[in-house]
Amino acid sequence: MPKANETVLEIDLGALTHNFNYLKSKLQSNTKFLAVVKAFAYGSDSIEIAKHLELLKVDYLAVAYTKEGVLLRDAGITTPILVLHPQPINFETIIERCLEPSIYNAKVLKEFIEVAEEQKQKDYPVHIKFNTGLNRLGFWESDVDHIVSKLKTTTSIIAKSIFSHLAASEDLNEVEFTNRQIESFKTTAKTFEDKLDYQPWLHLCNTSGVINYPKAHLDMVRCGIGLYGFGNSADEDKSLKPIASLKSVISQIHKIEKGETVGYNRAYTAKGSEKTATIPIGHADGIGRQYGNEKGYVFIDGKKAPIIGNVCMDMVMVNVTNIDCSEGDEVIIFDATNKASDLAESANTISYEIITAISQRVKRRFSN
Ligand SMILES: *Cc1c(COP(=O)(O)O)cnc(C)c1O
Repeated sequence: MPKANETVLEIDLGALTHNFNYLKSKLQSNTKFLAVVKAFAYGSDSIEIAKHLELLKVDYLAVAYTKEGVLLRDAGITTPILVLHPQPINFETIIERCLEPSIYNAKVLKEFIEVAEEQKQKDYPVHIKFNTGLNRLGFWESDVDHIVSKLKTTTSIIAKSIFSHLAASEDLNEVEFTNRQIESFKTTAKTFEDKLDYQPWLHLCNTSGVINYPKAHLDMVRCGIGLYGFGNSADEDKSLKPIASLKSVISQIHKIEKGETVGYNRAYTAKGSEKTATIPIGHADGIGRQYGNEKGYVFIDGKKAPIIGNVCMDMVMVNVTNIDCSEGDEVIIFDATNKASDLAESANTISYEIITAISQRVKRRFSN
């Protein structure tokens, strides 16, 4: 890659291949792989990532919202796409664009059947979501009879899969709770299957589930964060490669004297003769205000430069008093070595939040 001369998010598709193969190596050969590409493939670029995953022969894709699935279909993606959190207002679009809804409650089930029947669909694939302890979306086990009776009164849809989501698969202090979720899901699935005359696929694991709970891989796994290079543990992080590097450039260097202040609300005061660099990336680009006031940092010439004062909408100022640097020099916000997960930790958040926050304003550049 050439040095950055503006703010750019570099995406390493070779690293994506590596992570995909690494996660696949944890699975039985007949376990299907669903790649979660919601939120612009965790802040990278959903179209390029989905195209690359399609080349890698991923079995399924998932997005959170209908609109995200439409974007992929518009780009020519033909892999099946599960929409994890659809709303009835989008059901016609879902069918029109061959997207497959997660059905998480009785209202959504009823309304999807109505639309599927209106559109004269036969065996339209849907995915029945059960709540096993996350208490976010999903039917309860006690809803099985209702779901099955609805499925039996229509030929318009079929339950392609039954799934649930783990609440704490990355947390080894919660093994007991997670095991109970796994058991509860298996019991519900069995009750469900016994009442149907066909066999839906079962899936439960996200990335950390794949790593920590091999017995729960079932027919398919749903990986997001691992594909993008984070494994929710220091150990797993070693085997994965972050695919995204966020880089920028020094726009201007200022020399300031003791008592002078930097940025809005004069939040930083120089303790002596100091040197600051202004970088063209701000909270509108995804570096939130929580990284200001010396919590967050960037790297210049391999050295850490703390963000001083408040993060502005389009800029941050960093302290480069002890760094030999010039206007036009490259700045690393995170990359494969200086990890986004560490920067996230500096502001008490997680890799998921910092990477998905990188806004669409930031230019994307791809390499293999
Ligand atoms: C986001 C999401 C995933 C992916 O989780 P990771 O921890 O990123 O692997 C899987 N399943 C559901 C239902 C999700 O919402």
